[in-house]
Amino acid sequence: MKRKITIAIDGFSSTGKSTIAKLLAKKYNYIYVDTGAMYRAVTYFAMKNKLVSKKVLNEEVLISKLKDIKLTFKFNKILGFAEMFLNNVNVEKEIRSLAVSQLVSKVAAISEVRRKLVAEQQLMGVNGGIVMDGRDIGTVVFPDAELKLFMSASADKRASRRYKELIDRGDDVSFEDILFNVEERDRIDSTREDSPLIKAEDAIEFDNSDMGIEDQFNKICTLVEKKLL
Ligand code: C5P
Repeated sequence: MKRKITIAIDGFSSTGKSTIAKLLAKKYNYIYVDTGAMYRAVTYFAMKNKLVSKKVLNEEVLISKLKDIKLTFKFNKILGFAEMFLNNVNVEKEIRSLAVSQLVSKVAAISEVRRKLVAEQQLMGVNGGIVMDGRDIGTVVFPDAELKLFMSASADKRASRRYKELIDRGDDVSFEDILFNVEERDRIDSTREDSPLIKAEDAIEFDNSDMGIEDQFNKICTLVEKKLL
C-alpha cells in the first residue's frame, strides 16, 4: 500500500485552493479539511452572540465562550464534500455569506481562536492522508508536510470568481464589495501578528490568474506522485 502524505495548501482568498484540495482528496482518497470553514463558523457564532460587527469586537467574551463551540465536518454524499456543523447545526450556507467574509479576518487574528482551531486541525492530520487548505497550514499547522503549495492570482480574477459563486447561489452582492473584501482580507491575513499568511520557504507557488483548473491539477498531481515514490 502506498504511504499517505500530508498536503498543505495555503494562499490568498478565492485562489481556488478548495477546488484543487477537493480534487486531490478524491483522487488519492484522502481527507479534505477546509480550515477557512472553521474560522468562518467561529465568526458566525460570534455574530450570533453579538460579539463581532463592523464596529465591535468583544475579544474577552468570545475567548471565554470558545469552550462552548463545537465544530464538526460531516460528509455529504450528494454534494461530495464535508459540510460544517456548529454545535450540531449545519451552517454551511451561512458561513459562506459576504457578511461572514467581512468579519472573519478580524476573528481569525485572535490568538486564542487560532490555538483552539490549530490544535483541532493537527489532531485531524495525525495519520497523514490529508489535504488541508488555509493560510497557515504549511507554516504552523503542518510545518513538516511532505507537499506544500502556495496559491495566488490577481485580485480582480479572484473577486470575479467569488462574485460568480455568490450570485449563482442567489446572494445580492456587488462586485465592488467583493473586490474590496478580497483585498481587505488579504491585507489583514498577511499583516496579523499571529501566524500571518506567508509562503512557507519550501512551498511551491502557483499563480493561477491565467491557468485553468485542469492544467493546475495535472501539475500538482505530478508533484504528489513524486512524493509518493
Ligand atoms: O479560506 P477562506 O477564505 O474561507 O478563509 C476565511 C478566512 O479565515 C481567511 O480570510 C482568514 O482570515 C481565516 N483563515 C485563517 N487561517 C486559516 C484559514 C482561514 O486565518 N488556516
